[in-house]
Amino acid sequence: MKTIKDFDLKNKKVIIRVDFNVPIEDGIILDDNRIKESLDTITYAIKAEAKIILLSHLGRIKTEEDKIKNDLKPVSNRLSQLLNQEVIFVDETRGSKLETAIANMQPTDVLLIQNTRYEDLNNKAESNNDQNLGKYWASLGDIFINDAFGTAHRAHASNVGIATYLPSGIGLLLERELKTFEPLLYNPKRPFTLILGGAKVKDKIGVIENLIDKVDYLLIGGGMAFTFLKASGLNVGSSLVDNESISFCQKLLNKYPNKIILPIDVITGLEANSKTVTRTCFISDILNNELGLDIGPNTLKVFKQYLLDSKLIFWNGPMGVFEIDKFSRGTKLLCDIIAQIEAVTIVGGGDTASAVINMGYKDKFTHISTGGGAALELLEGKKLPALEVIESR
Ligand code: AMP
Repeated sequence: MKTIKDFDLKNKKVIIRVDFNVPIEDGIILDDNRIKESLDTITYAIKAEAKIILLSHLGRIKTEEDKIKNDLKPVSNRLSQLLNQEVIFVDETRGSKLETAIANMQPTDVLLIQNTRYEDLNNKAESNNDQNLGKYWASLGDIFINDAFGTAHRAHASNVGIATYLPSGIGLLLERELKTFEPLLYNPKRPFTLILGGAKVKDKIGVIENLIDKVDYLLIGGGMAFTFLKASGLNVGSSLVDNESISFCQKLLNKYPNKIILPIDVITGLEANSKTVTRTCFISDILNNELGLDIGPNTLKVFKQYLLDSKLIFWNGPMGVFEIDKFSRGTKLLCDIIAQIEAVTIVGGGDTASAVINMGYKDKFTHISTGGGAALELLEGKKLPALEVIESR
């Protein structure tokens, strides 16, 4: 697959699809990690004297009100600071204002187009990969570089659409993401430990099916552990259970009894909120009115034993309801354990990535992926549409 390094960018209008989908509240960016992650590719293009046109989505746009909340202007300001250069922001996704701004660009200029999903108010043109929209955006540049791993599992006009009509390659971040995931799928260092948590088993079935024969251990925490525990015949009280997935869990536990490691103790609450009374108990002691909301200290000790021995660790899904302080300890202490291990340590994106970064462990992992869904689909062995189109050209 071609990368940005395979093109002569000098004086060319280079459209780069970045992932600036960052959390913003009242115009304040709460976490600028994704903007920082895109800097390598942007500065590479600046040094190569390209005219750089950036495209990104932000949030979901279903109403005119959503447009106000998901305006990319604050991102443009932050990017300006990080690059130490003015970023030309065009508050339009198409039209003469945008075209004139592009026509006036000089080499090394950086221009950011307004949120691509503003086009979703127009029959979901962006998210449904409307061909005319992809063709129009492609007409604004000479070369297309996709550096947005977070949306690579979706066929949108701003990734698949543009790539259909322009010479295309991937950016440095996307290249780094793919290089990180390849050894997990094809040549894992051993012992290879997969840690899964989060809410739903259903979302992780594809990954489990594709990786279970490749991993040495599968440690399961978070809400999804209770479906496995129930499948093994235990009473899990009022904990989250994904009933549809129980038979899948039973089959898996029967086939891999020594590979799948489940929690032995939990922190319970009567409700998933910060005021609830909590209790630490062994799994077999969960009361009917209690919910398991975090893994307990003994589980962490057990998990640690498997992790100490590991050479490759992939983690997706928090160990508890980490958004509530009382139930964030399991996730934090797991970060602590992994941070001390000499192994290749990779965190899948989404909730786990923001938990790890917010808890202060950003530099303690080998790689924190910028893609949640995309990382999982890659690990399911699926082809990502935004990459397939680039490969096919
Ligand atoms: P996922 O998107 O499947 O990775 O799930 C992430 C969500 O799982 C987070 O919002 C957590 O609050 C939630 N979660 C983690 N542990 C539990 C638990 N024991 N019970 C209910 N929800 C949980």
